[in-house]
Amino acid sequence: MDYPEFSEDNKSLLKKYLTRELFGRLEKVRTNSGFTFADAIRSGVANQDSSIGIYAGNAESYKVFADIFNPIISDYHSFNIDGFHRSDLSLPCDIENPDPDHRYIISTRIRVARNVAGFDFPSSINSESRKMLELKVVQAIDMLKSYNKNLQGRYVTLSDALRSERFSFIKKHFIFDGQDRFQASAGITRDWPESRGVFLSNDEKFIVWVNEEDHLRIIYMEKGGEIAKVFNNVSLALAGLEQEIIFAYNPHLGYLTSCPSNLGTGMRAGVHIRLPGLYKRKTLLFKIADSFNLQVRGTSGENTKVDNFVFDISNRQRLGITEKECVQDLHKGLVEIIEAEKTIRDCAIFS
Ligand code: ADP
Ligand code: MG
Repeated sequence: MDYPEFSEDNKSLLKKYLTRELFGRLEKVRTNSGFTFADAIRSGVANQDSSIGIYAGNAESYKVFADIFNPIISDYHSFNIDGFHRSDLSLPCDIENPDPDHRYIISTRIRVARNVAGFDFPSSINSESRKMLELKVVQAIDMLKSYNKNLQGRYVTLSDALRSERFSFIKKHFIFDGQDRFQASAGITRDWPESRGVFLSNDEKFIVWVNEEDHLRIIYMEKGGEIAKVFNNVSLALAGLEQEIIFAYNPHLGYLTSCPSNLGTGMRAGVHIRLPGLYKRKTLLFKIADSFNLQVRGTSGENTKVDNFVFDISNRQRLGITEKECVQDLHKGLVEIIEAEKTIRDCAIFS
Protein backbone atom coordinates (compact mmCIF):
# COMPACT_ATOMS: atom_id res chain seq x y z
CA MET A 1 0.00 0.00 0.00
CA ASP A 2 1.25 3.49 -0.89
CA TYR A 3 0.89 6.55 1.29
CA PRO A 4 -2.78 7.52 0.83
CA GLU A 5 -3.81 10.43 -1.32
CA PHE A 6 -5.72 12.99 0.72
CA SER A 7 -7.68 15.70 -1.02
CA GLU A 8 -6.93 19.40 -0.36
CA ASP A 9 -10.19 19.90 1.50
CA ASN A 10 -9.89 16.71 3.60
CA LYS A 11 -10.36 17.78 7.25
CA SER A 12 -9.95 14.35 8.85
CA LEU A 13 -7.85 13.74 11.93
CA LEU A 14 -6.28 10.85 10.00
CA LYS A 15 -4.84 13.27 7.43
CA LYS A 16 -3.76 15.64 10.21
CA TYR A 17 -1.65 13.03 12.04
CA LEU A 18 -0.62 10.45 9.43
CA THR A 19 2.81 11.69 8.40
CA ARG A 20 4.77 9.76 5.76
CA GLU A 21 7.23 8.74 8.45
CA LEU A 22 4.46 7.33 10.66
CA PHE A 23 2.88 5.60 7.67
CA GLY A 24 6.22 3.91 6.96
CA ARG A 25 6.31 2.57 10.52
CA LEU A 26 2.72 1.34 10.55
CA GLU A 27 2.00 0.10 7.05
CA LYS A 28 3.06 -3.51 7.76
CA VAL A 29 1.68 -3.68 11.31
CA ARG A 30 -1.31 -5.95 11.98
CA THR A 31 -3.10 -7.35 15.00
CA ASN A 32 -2.85 -11.04 15.93
CA SER A 33 -6.16 -11.66 14.20
CA GLY A 34 -4.76 -10.23 10.93
CA PHE A 35 -6.44 -6.79 11.01
CA THR A 36 -4.06 -4.56 9.01
CA PHE A 37 -3.28 -0.86 8.99
CA ALA A 38 -4.84 -0.66 5.51
CA ASP A 39 -8.04 -2.17 6.99
CA ALA A 40 -8.04 0.46 9.76
CA ILE A 41 -7.78 3.45 7.41
CA ARG A 42 -9.74 2.08 4.43
CA SER A 43 -12.86 4.11 5.22
CA GLY A 44 -10.94 7.33 5.84
CA VAL A 45 -9.15 6.97 2.50
CA ALA A 46 -12.31 6.07 0.55
CA ASN A 47 -14.36 8.84 2.19
CA GLN A 48 -12.41 12.06 2.02
CA ASP A 49 -15.15 13.82 4.01
CA SER A 50 -14.55 11.63 7.09
CA SER A 51 -14.01 13.60 10.26
CA ILE A 52 -11.91 10.91 11.96
CA GLY A 53 -10.93 8.43 9.21
CA ILE A 54 -9.80 5.38 11.19
CA TYR A 55 -11.60 2.45 12.86
CA ALA A 56 -10.34 -0.15 15.33
CA GLY A 57 -10.84 -3.79 14.30
CA ASN A 58 -10.54 -5.05 17.86
CA ALA A 59 -9.28 -4.00 21.30
CA GLU A 60 -5.68 -4.79 20.31
CA SER A 61 -5.82 -2.21 17.49
CA TYR A 62 -5.54 0.56 20.08
CA LYS A 63 -2.18 -0.93 21.19
CA VAL A 64 -0.55 -1.88 17.90
CA PHE A 65 -1.65 1.28 16.07
CA ALA A 66 -1.25 3.51 19.15
CA ASP A 67 1.09 5.92 17.33
CA ILE A 68 -1.74 7.06 15.10
CA PHE A 69 -4.70 6.44 17.43
CA ASN A 70 -3.26 8.33 20.42
CA PRO A 71 -2.85 11.77 18.82
CA ILE A 72 -6.27 11.42 17.17
CA ILE A 73 -7.86 10.48 20.50
CA SER A 74 -6.15 13.34 22.38
CA ASP A 75 -7.20 15.82 19.75
CA TYR A 76 -10.85 14.70 19.47
CA HIS A 77 -11.49 14.39 23.22
CA SER A 78 -9.04 17.08 24.44
CA PHE A 79 -7.68 14.38 26.71
CA ASN A 80 -4.13 13.51 27.74
CA ILE A 81 -3.78 9.85 26.86
CA ASP A 82 -1.68 9.11 29.98
CA GLY A 83 -4.61 10.09 32.19
CA PHE A 84 -7.20 7.67 33.52
CA HIS A 85 -10.77 7.60 32.35
CA ARG A 86 -13.42 8.00 35.08
CA SER A 87 -16.96 6.69 35.03
CA ASP A 88 -19.99 8.00 36.92
CA LEU A 89 -23.32 6.43 36.15
CA SER A 90 -24.54 6.77 39.72
CA LEU A 91 -28.23 7.33 40.37
CA PRO A 92 -30.12 9.49 40.58
CA CYS A 93 -29.23 12.11 38.04
CA ASP A 94 -31.23 15.24 38.87
CA ILE A 95 -30.72 17.50 35.87
CA GLU A 96 -33.76 19.66 35.11
CA ASN A 97 -35.60 19.63 31.81
CA PRO A 98 -34.05 22.52 29.79
CA ASP A 99 -37.40 22.97 28.00
CA PRO A 100 -40.06 22.75 30.73
CA ASP A 101 -42.74 24.31 28.49
CA HIS A 102 -42.19 21.65 25.81
CA ARG A 103 -41.71 24.24 23.08
CA TYR A 104 -38.46 23.16 21.46
CA ILE A 105 -37.23 19.69 22.37
CA ILE A 106 -39.00 16.90 20.51
CA SER A 107 -37.20 13.91 21.99
CA THR A 108 -34.21 12.96 24.10
CA ARG A 109 -31.99 10.01 23.29
CA ILE A 110 -28.97 8.65 25.10
CA ARG A 111 -26.98 5.85 23.56
CA VAL A 112 -24.00 4.05 24.91
CA ALA A 113 -21.64 2.09 22.67
CA ARG A 114 -20.19 -1.18 23.96
CA ASN A 115 -18.18 -4.09 22.58
CA VAL A 116 -17.92 -7.52 24.13
CA ALA A 117 -14.44 -8.44 25.41
CA GLY A 118 -12.76 -11.22 23.45
CA PHE A 119 -14.59 -10.64 20.14
CA ASP A 120 -13.29 -8.75 17.10
CA PHE A 121 -15.12 -5.48 16.51
CA PRO A 122 -17.65 -5.22 13.63
CA SER A 123 -15.12 -4.12 10.97
CA SER A 124 -13.22 -7.39 11.28
CA ILE A 125 -15.46 -9.97 12.99
CA ASN A 126 -16.22 -13.08 10.92
CA SER A 127 -19.67 -14.38 10.20
CA GLU A 128 -19.52 -17.24 12.71
CA SER A 129 -18.33 -15.09 15.63
CA ARG A 130 -20.89 -12.44 14.75
CA LYS A 131 -23.62 -15.06 15.05
CA MET A 132 -22.26 -16.30 18.42
CA LEU A 133 -22.08 -12.76 19.65
CA GLU A 134 -25.67 -12.05 18.65
CA LEU A 135 -26.84 -15.09 20.65
CA LYS A 136 -24.85 -14.05 23.71
CA VAL A 137 -26.12 -10.48 23.60
CA VAL A 138 -29.75 -11.43 23.07
CA GLN A 139 -29.59 -13.85 26.02
CA ALA A 140 -28.09 -11.12 28.21
CA ILE A 141 -30.77 -8.61 27.20
CA ASP A 142 -33.44 -11.16 27.97
CA MET A 143 -32.16 -11.34 31.57
CA LEU A 144 -32.83 -7.61 32.04
CA LYS A 145 -36.52 -8.15 32.67
CA SER A 146 -35.62 -9.75 35.99
CA TYR A 147 -34.15 -6.38 37.10
CA ASN A 148 -36.87 -4.17 35.71
CA LYS A 149 -40.07 -5.12 33.92
CA ASN A 150 -39.86 -1.98 31.75
CA LEU A 151 -36.89 -3.60 30.05
CA GLN A 152 -38.99 -6.49 28.80
CA GLY A 153 -39.57 -6.66 25.06
CA ARG A 154 -38.79 -8.46 21.83
CA TYR A 155 -35.78 -8.95 19.58
CA VAL A 156 -36.30 -8.35 15.87
CA THR A 157 -33.63 -9.65 13.50
CA LEU A 158 -33.15 -7.37 10.52
CA SER A 159 -33.33 -10.29 8.10
CA ASP A 160 -36.74 -11.31 9.48
CA ALA A 161 -38.21 -7.83 9.87
CA LEU A 162 -40.98 -7.33 7.35
CA ARG A 163 -40.33 -4.62 4.81
CA SER A 164 -43.26 -2.59 6.10
CA GLU A 165 -42.10 -2.98 9.70
CA ARG A 166 -38.55 -2.03 8.75
CA PHE A 167 -39.78 1.12 7.07
CA SER A 168 -41.83 2.17 10.07
CA PHE A 169 -38.92 1.41 12.43
CA ILE A 170 -36.57 3.56 10.37
CA LYS A 171 -39.06 6.42 10.42
CA LYS A 172 -39.32 6.13 14.19
CA HIS A 173 -35.48 6.13 14.47
CA PHE A 174 -35.50 2.65 16.04
CA ILE A 175 -33.24 0.81 13.64
CA PHE A 176 -30.22 1.14 11.41
CA ASP A 177 -30.29 0.36 7.71
CA GLY A 178 -26.78 -0.71 6.69
CA GLN A 179 -26.53 2.19 4.22
CA ASP A 180 -23.79 4.19 5.95
CA ARG A 181 -20.96 4.53 3.39
CA PHE A 182 -18.34 5.22 6.09
CA GLN A 183 -19.25 1.96 7.81
CA ALA A 184 -19.50 0.10 4.49
CA SER A 185 -15.94 0.94 3.44
CA ALA A 186 -14.70 0.01 6.91
CA GLY A 187 -16.16 -3.49 6.39
CA ILE A 188 -18.75 -3.03 9.14
CA THR A 189 -21.73 -3.87 6.91
CA ARG A 190 -20.23 -7.12 5.49
CA ASP A 191 -22.72 -10.00 5.19
CA TRP A 192 -25.59 -7.56 5.73
CA PRO A 193 -28.15 -8.18 7.33
CA GLU A 194 -26.84 -11.43 8.88
CA SER A 195 -26.86 -11.43 12.70
CA ARG A 196 -28.03 -7.84 12.96
CA GLY A 197 -31.05 -6.92 14.96
CA VAL A 198 -32.79 -4.61 17.35
CA PHE A 199 -34.25 -5.26 20.78
CA LEU A 200 -37.30 -3.12 21.51
CA SER A 201 -38.92 -2.87 24.93
CA ASN A 202 -42.70 -3.11 25.04
CA ASP A 203 -43.01 0.66 25.46
CA GLU A 204 -40.48 1.15 22.61
CA LYS A 205 -38.29 3.42 24.74
CA PHE A 206 -35.45 1.04 25.53
CA ILE A 207 -33.67 -0.12 22.40
CA VAL A 208 -30.52 -2.14 21.80
CA TRP A 209 -28.86 -2.28 18.39
CA VAL A 210 -26.94 -5.49 17.88
CA ASN A 211 -23.96 -5.62 15.50
CA GLU A 212 -24.14 -2.13 14.05
CA GLU A 213 -20.95 0.00 14.31
CA ASP A 214 -20.31 -1.54 17.73
CA HIS A 215 -21.51 -4.87 19.09
CA LEU A 216 -24.09 -3.07 21.20
CA ARG A 217 -25.64 0.35 21.12
CA ILE A 218 -27.74 0.64 24.26
CA ILE A 219 -30.35 3.32 23.78
CA TYR A 220 -33.11 4.95 25.78
CA MET A 221 -35.25 7.42 23.91
CA GLU A 222 -38.51 9.21 24.62
CA LYS A 223 -40.48 12.32 23.74
CA GLY A 224 -39.66 15.58 25.54
CA GLY A 225 -36.58 16.85 27.35
CA GLU A 226 -36.44 14.82 30.56
CA ILE A 227 -32.69 14.20 30.30
CA ALA A 228 -32.43 12.91 33.88
CA LYS A 229 -35.09 10.25 33.37
CA VAL A 230 -33.45 9.03 30.18
CA PHE A 231 -30.05 8.94 31.89
CA ASN A 232 -31.41 6.99 34.86
CA ASN A 233 -32.96 4.38 32.58
CA VAL A 234 -29.77 3.93 30.56
CA SER A 235 -27.79 3.56 33.75
CA LEU A 236 -30.15 0.85 35.06
CA ALA A 237 -30.02 -1.11 31.83
CA LEU A 238 -26.22 -0.91 31.72
CA ALA A 239 -25.88 -2.13 35.29
CA GLY A 240 -28.04 -5.15 34.38
CA LEU A 241 -26.09 -5.94 31.22
CA GLU A 242 -22.79 -5.72 33.09
CA GLN A 243 -23.95 -8.63 35.25
CA GLU A 244 -24.09 -10.76 32.11
CA ILE A 245 -21.40 -9.45 29.75
CA ILE A 246 -17.80 -8.30 30.14
CA PHE A 247 -17.28 -5.25 27.95
CA ALA A 248 -13.95 -4.34 26.29
CA TYR A 249 -12.34 -1.73 28.57
CA ASN A 250 -9.01 -0.02 29.14
CA PRO A 251 -8.26 2.22 32.18
CA HIS A 252 -6.90 5.03 29.96
CA LEU A 253 -9.34 4.77 27.07
CA GLY A 254 -12.46 3.66 28.92
CA TYR A 255 -14.90 1.47 26.97
CA LEU A 256 -13.33 0.46 23.68
CA THR A 257 -15.29 1.25 20.54
CA SER A 258 -14.88 0.91 16.76
CA CYS A 259 -14.51 4.65 16.21
CA PRO A 260 -12.09 6.51 18.50
CA SER A 261 -14.64 9.32 18.85
CA ASN A 262 -16.78 6.99 20.98
CA LEU A 263 -14.08 5.89 23.45
CA GLY A 264 -14.49 6.54 27.16
CA THR A 265 -18.12 6.64 28.17
CA GLY A 266 -19.34 5.59 24.71
CA MET A 267 -22.15 7.97 25.51
CA ARG A 268 -23.90 10.28 23.11
CA ALA A 269 -26.63 12.15 24.95
CA GLY A 270 -28.71 14.27 22.64
CA VAL A 271 -31.99 15.81 21.70
CA HIS A 272 -33.97 16.38 18.56
CA ILE A 273 -34.78 20.07 18.83
CA ARG A 274 -36.78 22.28 16.48
CA LEU A 275 -35.07 25.62 15.94
CA PRO A 276 -36.57 27.59 13.03
CA GLY A 277 -34.92 30.82 14.26
CA LEU A 278 -31.43 29.42 14.62
CA TYR A 279 -31.88 27.51 11.35
CA LYS A 280 -31.50 30.91 9.69
CA ARG A 281 -28.60 31.83 11.98
CA LYS A 282 -26.57 28.63 11.75
CA THR A 283 -23.29 30.39 12.49
CA LEU A 284 -24.66 31.45 15.86
CA LEU A 285 -26.00 27.94 16.55
CA PHE A 286 -22.62 26.36 15.75
CA LYS A 287 -20.82 28.96 17.86
CA ILE A 288 -22.94 28.23 20.93
CA ALA A 289 -22.73 24.46 20.33
CA ASP A 290 -18.94 24.66 20.03
CA SER A 291 -18.58 26.69 23.21
CA PHE A 292 -20.37 23.95 25.17
CA ASN A 293 -18.54 21.20 23.31
CA LEU A 294 -21.72 20.03 21.60
CA GLN A 295 -22.11 18.51 18.17
CA VAL A 296 -24.86 19.35 15.69
CA ARG A 297 -26.14 16.59 13.38
CA GLY A 298 -28.99 16.26 10.88
CA THR A 299 -32.40 14.82 11.67
CA SER A 300 -31.78 11.25 10.52
CA GLY A 301 -28.35 10.89 12.10
CA GLU A 302 -24.73 11.65 11.33
CA ASN A 303 -24.12 13.07 7.85
CA THR A 304 -27.82 13.64 7.12
CA LYS A 305 -29.65 16.88 6.43
CA VAL A 306 -31.84 18.92 8.74
CA ASP A 307 -35.56 18.31 8.04
CA ASN A 308 -38.24 20.71 9.20
CA PHE A 309 -35.69 22.70 11.30
CA VAL A 310 -35.05 19.67 13.54
CA PHE A 311 -31.42 19.39 14.66
CA ASP A 312 -29.78 16.57 16.62
CA ILE A 313 -27.64 18.20 19.31
CA SER A 314 -25.44 16.06 21.58
CA ASN A 315 -22.23 15.98 23.62
CA ARG A 316 -19.07 15.75 21.51
CA GLN A 317 -16.55 14.66 24.15
CA ARG A 318 -16.87 11.18 25.66
CA LEU A 319 -13.43 10.34 27.03
CA GLY A 320 -11.87 11.93 30.11
CA ILE A 321 -15.26 13.07 31.35
CA THR A 322 -17.83 11.02 33.24
CA GLU A 323 -21.26 10.04 31.95
CA LYS A 324 -22.79 12.59 34.35
CA GLU A 325 -20.56 15.30 32.87
CA CYS A 326 -21.69 14.32 29.36
CA VAL A 327 -25.32 15.07 30.24
CA GLN A 328 -24.38 18.20 32.20
CA ASP A 329 -22.59 19.55 29.08
CA LEU A 330 -25.71 18.83 27.08
CA HIS A 331 -27.98 20.53 29.59
CA LYS A 332 -25.89 23.70 29.87
CA GLY A 333 -25.58 24.06 26.10
CA LEU A 334 -29.29 23.49 25.53
CA VAL A 335 -30.28 26.18 28.03
CA GLU A 336 -28.17 28.66 26.06
CA ILE A 337 -29.41 27.46 22.67
CA ILE A 338 -33.05 27.72 23.76
CA GLU A 339 -32.37 31.21 25.12
CA ALA A 340 -30.89 32.25 21.76
CA GLU A 341 -33.84 30.76 19.85
CA LYS A 342 -36.29 32.66 22.10
CA THR A 343 -34.43 35.93 21.59
CA ILE A 344 -34.46 35.54 17.82
CA ARG A 345 -38.18 34.83 17.84
CA ASP A 346 -39.03 37.59 20.36
CA CYS A 347 -37.07 40.18 18.44
CA ALA A 348 -38.96 39.07 15.35
CA ILE A 349 -35.63 38.83 13.55
CA PHE A 350 -37.09 35.55 12.47
CA SER A 351 -40.11 35.82 10.24
P1 ADP B 1 -25.43 7.23 16.86
O1 ADP B 1 -24.50 8.15 17.54
O2 ADP B 1 -26.31 6.52 17.81
O3 ADP B 1 -24.78 6.31 15.88
P2 ADP B 1 -26.62 8.46 14.52
O4 ADP B 1 -26.27 9.90 14.25
O5 ADP B 1 -26.02 7.40 13.68
O6 ADP B 1 -26.36 8.20 16.06
O7 ADP B 1 -28.19 8.34 14.53
C1 ADP B 1 -28.83 7.17 14.85
C2 ADP B 1 -30.34 7.30 14.75
O8 ADP B 1 -30.85 7.88 15.95
C3 ADP B 1 -30.86 8.14 13.63
O9 ADP B 1 -32.03 7.51 13.11
C4 ADP B 1 -31.26 9.45 14.30
O10 ADP B 1 -32.29 10.13 13.64
C5 ADP B 1 -31.74 8.91 15.65
N1 ADP B 1 -31.70 9.92 16.71
C6 ADP B 1 -30.63 10.54 17.21
N2 ADP B 1 -30.96 11.40 18.20
C7 ADP B 1 -32.30 11.29 18.35
C8 ADP B 1 -33.26 11.92 19.21
N3 ADP B 1 -32.93 12.80 20.15
N4 ADP B 1 -34.56 11.57 19.05
C9 ADP B 1 -34.93 10.66 18.12
N5 ADP B 1 -34.07 10.04 17.30
C10 ADP B 1 -32.78 10.35 17.39
MG1 MG C 1 -24.13 6.21 13.99
